[in-house]
Amino acid sequence: MLLETDVAVIGGGLVGISVAYGLAKRNVQSVVLDESDGAIRASRGNFGLVWVQGKGLALPAYTGWAMRAVEQWPELAARLIAETGIDVGLTQKGGLYLSRSPEAFEQRARDLAAVQQRFPGDYEFDMLDNAAIRKRVPEIGPDVVGGSYSPYDGQANPLRLLHALHRGYLARGGRVLSNGGATDIGQRGDKFVVTTPGGQVVARRIVLAAGLGNATLGQMLGVGIPVKPVRGQILVTERVPPIFDIAIEQVRQTEDGTLMIGGSWEEVGFDLGTTFDVTRRIADDALHFFPFLKDVRIMRSWAALRIITPDAAPVYEEVLPGAFLVTCHSGVSLAAIHADETAGWIADGAIPDAMRDFGLRRFAGSQ
Ligand SMILES: Cc1cc2nc3c(=O)[nH]c(=O)nc-3n(C[C@H](O)[C@H](O)[C@H](O)COP(=O)(O)OP(=O)(O)OC[C@H]3O[C@@H](n4cnc5c(N)ncnc54)[C@H](O)[C@@H]3O)c2cc1C
Repeated sequence: MLLETDVAVIGGGLVGISVAYGLAKRNVQSVVLDESDGAIRASRGNFGLVWVQGKGLALPAYTGWAMRAVEQWPELAARLIAETGIDVGLTQKGGLYLSRSPEAFEQRARDLAAVQQRFPGDYEFDMLDNAAIRKRVPEIGPDVVGGSYSPYDGQANPLRLLHALHRGYLARGGRVLSNGGATDIGQRGDKFVVTTPGGQVVARRIVLAAGLGNATLGQMLGVGIPVKPVRGQILVTERVPPIFDIAIEQVRQTEDGTLMIGGSWEEVGFDLGTTFDVTRRIADDALHFFPFLKDVRIMRSWAALRIITPDAAPVYEEVLPGAFLVTCHSGVSLAAIHADETAGWIADGAIPDAMRDFGLRRFAGSQ
């Protein structure tokens, strides 16, 4: 099979499909090349936070980008429900990050103050003690020191988001090749030729949006792309009546009543296993934060791999003329802006100068 298209988006996780959906909205013809069912996908194992707080500590430009991204989320959610009938369960009622020790609480306060100080606009956050949290979340444990609150944060259902973006993209004439793992990328004249088990795709532009697979795609193009896996283990409880109406980074209630508890941060390579020691530690933290959980049953656990750059912030870079790298750790939080502005850069064929802080050059010398 030989397929010609304007843009080949390599990777059909949240990042690739957000960009492809945005291209389709602009009537740019594209094909999404994705691997088959056994592939490693962060998009199917994440926590579903739509989050700003803390972003930008290592890369100040990321704060404003994340704030713009969450501001655009309601429009994306409304568009997806209108176009696909899928409600992605967005709520944006603020977010809480709990600290287990006084030292952790103080460090959090310093970090958010640093983010606030470097941000050129308004950046609100509050450090809440136990009594202040209790007013909003009466179930908080008596020994919890406190936590940080941000009004910008929220949550959504990440699996429905992935499904809705795929459905919306297909409805606008997009095409997904699910036997489309790229094994080679060559150039013929001013076009790219992407080889996959399902055949070749010829495209004027390509988007490298393959998550952890971007490192291999970079090798095909002779470009170093520093992404590494960081494992997160998550526990899920049985359904319980509504408890929290705000998003909490460590324990969040989904719209169907289950509680998601997470997640670890482990550098163990491409290992997707769950381990007893880590799930026990996660459960122990959760019991400290919310003692009522001792009566709630854990139903399942899983692990997924985060896609982490050296500063954990996104990368947007035209690695070769016409070849755009889009990768990040927060593909849920950034979905709306990827489906709009980022898709616009690909459609226009250039990443704006204003985004240069997000380029690969910032890692020069650190690889
Ligand atoms: C435990 C955990 C919790 C998280 N919590 C949150 C959260 O609360 N909020 C948030 O915003 N983000 C969260 N994330 C991050 C979020 O899940 C990711 O940022 C997002 O899923 C990344 O999407 P992606 O498309 O880049 O990668 P993936 O979902 O990994 O998708 C990459 C795709 O590329 C395909 N691919 C790979 N190689 C090739 C190739 N050669 N050719 C074609 N296709 C290829 C793969 O098959 C896959 O489908 C979390 C992640 C984890 C692991």
